[in-house]
Amino acid sequence: MPHNLSERDIAILNSLQKDGRKSFRQISRELKISTPTVKLHFQRLVNIGLIKSITPIIDTSKLDYDSKLKIEKCHCETEPQKINLSTDMSVKMICDYCDGPIASKPHLFKFAKIERFFCCTSCKSLYKEKYKGRIESIIKKAH
Ligand SMILES: [Zn+2]
Repeated sequence: MPHNLSERDIAILNSLQKDGRKSFRQISRELKISTPTVKLHFQRLVNIGLIKSITPIIDTSKLDYDSKLKIEKCHCETEPQKINLSTDMSVKMICDYCDGPIASKPHLFKFAKIERFFCCTSCKSLYKEKYKGRIESIIKKAH
């Protein structure tokens, strides 16, 4: 079952596309929704993989002449692309254990701030078994 993007998801994403350094409190004030709600939506979008990372956008106009030439030569300059999102879009849900599509409601496993999604209960328990040590140390660090 894909994750349908809600109005709030989109508002948060658009706000972060403008400035990824914004705090949850800033976004909360801007969108007039509570900070915990912003956090919850953000964390879910990270956990399902739609927000891959918050990366700095480099303003190449700030570079000196020689540095700019180097960038032009390697063609590695990428324009920041604003993506227009709408509520009729949804995010594909993939099982975190078998990488297969999650057809129905995902089986959720939550530890610390991390959520993992599975297609079935056996994938969920196999995952828990496989990453037992790592999960325990993440939980310990979170406390
Ligand atoms: Zn699976």
